[in-house]
Amino acid sequence: MAPGMWSEPLLYERLSWPEVRRAAAEDRVALIPVATLEDHGPHLPVDCDLRIVSEICRRAAGAAPAETVLLPPIPHGYDPHHMDFPGALTIGWDTFTRYCRDVGSSLARHGFTRMLYLNGHGSNQNLVETAARLVNVEHPGVLAAAAFYLTSPEGLAEVERVRESTRGGIGHACELETSIYLAIDPGAVEMSKAVDERNPNETEHAWFDWSDGSLKVMPWWSSFSVTGVHGDATKATAEKGRRLLDAAVEECVAYVRELRSMRLPERRQPKETPG
Ligand SMILES: [Zn+2]
Repeated sequence: MAPGMWSEPLLYERLSWPEVRRAAAEDRVALIPVATLEDHGPHLPVDCDLRIVSEICRRAAGAAPAETVLLPPIPHGYDPHHMDFPGALTIGWDTFTRYCRDVGSSLARHGFTRMLYLNGHGSNQNLVETAARLVNVEHPGVLAAAAFYLTSPEGLAEVERVRESTRGGIGHACELETSIYLAIDPGAVEMSKAVDERNPNETEHAWFDWSDGSLKVMPWWSSFSVTGVHGDATKATAEKGRRLLDAAVEECVAYVRELRSMRLPERRQPKETPG
């Protein structure tokens, strides 16, 4: 973001009900950060996903203050495979999915027609996408979308430019997440405890990185990482984190603007010819 582009975000929870009605009438995109609390190695707090995605959304809402309303983050997500590690809190997949859907459905009930769940925890992703889908199905005139930060082509390209680690170096409590946390709050990161640990059980199509392999396998986390880290946290720096954070904010603002440019869906009678 260019300097001077920053302003205070409109916080949903601080609005009175007439202000909520006005925010909906202004066609603002409701921005909903979604995360989880779980182990992120010995060097990072368990709120890593929550802190990162909250910060991305707060900055994005500040960069597009007239186009967004920022919801409080959904802090708890789906991570049963992390429960060997102290700190992980997991919500049943169906409860979590319905919870996310219910937040969106409530917003739709109040007149918001565009919403974006921005997710920061991998195992939430399919469920958050399902929640957004359910909002769309239940509210046919609404556009609810879901995305994981830094997964657009531009975001992925910046990850590739910034990273020093080879494949497997970015995954969890890794070069990327540790760098972003360093950029947000360096005092909360204990770099002397950062390690490089990779899944030793990878194959041609089953591997973890920022984009995983095409063959999806997710066993208990402790079966392939004893520290909780997957990736090379030792390569993290605050400077990398600043670049990644800027790219994630730009990406989120782009999503907001795209959602605002889209025509709201209307259900139609099927016909045998297009148009
Ligand atoms: Zn994480």
